[in-house]
Amino acid sequence: MIGRMAANPDLAQRLLDGDRRALARAISLVEDDDPDGWALVKDVYANTGKAVITGITGAPGAGKSTLIGVLVSNRRAADRTVAVLSIDPTSPFTQGALLGDRIRLTEHFLDPGVFIRSMANRGALGGLSEASLQTALLMDAAGRDDVFLETVGVGQAEVDIIDHADTVVLVLMPGGGDSVQALKAGIMEIPDIIVVNKSDHPMTPTMVREIRGVLSLAPQGSWKVPIVQTEAVAGKGVEELMEKLIEHRAHIEQEGTLSERRRRNLRGEVIALATGRLRRQLEGRLAQDAQFEALIDDVLARELDPASAATVILEREIAERADAT
Ligand code: GDP
Repeated sequence: MIGRMAANPDLAQRLLDGDRRALARAISLVEDDDPDGWALVKDVYANTGKAVITGITGAPGAGKSTLIGVLVSNRRAADRTVAVLSIDPTSPFTQGALLGDRIRLTEHFLDPGVFIRSMANRGALGGLSEASLQTALLMDAAGRDDVFLETVGVGQAEVDIIDHADTVVLVLMPGGGDSVQALKAGIMEIPDIIVVNKSDHPMTPTMVREIRGVLSLAPQGSWKVPIVQTEAVAGKGVEELMEKLIEHRAHIEQEGTLSERRRRNLRGEVIALATGRLRRQLEGRLAQDAQFEALIDDVLARELDPASAATVILEREIAERADAT
């Protein structure tokens, strides 16, 4: 069911019917921060929450795309429809260039059961994080059974789309000591599943040992984080990874943590959206504000410290809002 006040009822309906072109169009709207895009998400939101969302993160070159290529084949063989969203916050390239890079996924380009989209950080107004979350929702609404979110993650907390995955997989490669250090230092959150890809590399056992060491120090929940060794280029170990993904999904459903996790993630999202809006509003109001500029003059002249200036502005904002009501 779509709302009576739907912004673009035809597009919304076609999206819900699973039309790929409608999905592509809808994502472009969201990516361009077009109000029609937000309205569309609003219209179809009630139809989301059905897809199995898997986040795959790891340093560039770890083998995420290769691995996703094999996972997609696996899901297709199980007769499930798939969407892949590759998010690269470090890339200044436009979508085309990024997609062209994804040679590993090309075998799936002609399969109507597979929808692939890339997103790079090109200064979308609402931010990459917001655009990618809306995109994931659209993919879900379009009836995709599985949604894979691929992100470059080496402790880059600014892109928290991975938080919206039901299961988070961290892909490491032998010799990728930085990622293990990031895990150890708590910069990177402990994922649900750890993959050591390129297991054809002689350093693999050392890497696995190091990860075990880090995991043994981490607080243990009811889920024991498995370490799966894969050789994505040869498709090795991917069956086992798929089994672990299914196991984890069953685990969080049984424990009730799936809805808990979703609640936590959506809560964070609402706060992020509200914060973003407040920030934009404030920046807009302060853009041409003589009192604000005078305060900055004082800060510059070392007559006022930055935190006290912020307090003055906030108190003024609160007072003005109170007056307006
Ligand atoms: P991503 O940047 O994490 O998406 O990594 P890619 O999937 O693009 O892989 C990076 C490079 O590693 C490519 O040249 C792959 O062919 C190669 N690669 C991926 N998996 C393996 C593997 O299991 N063994 C080896 N030796 N190379 C691999």
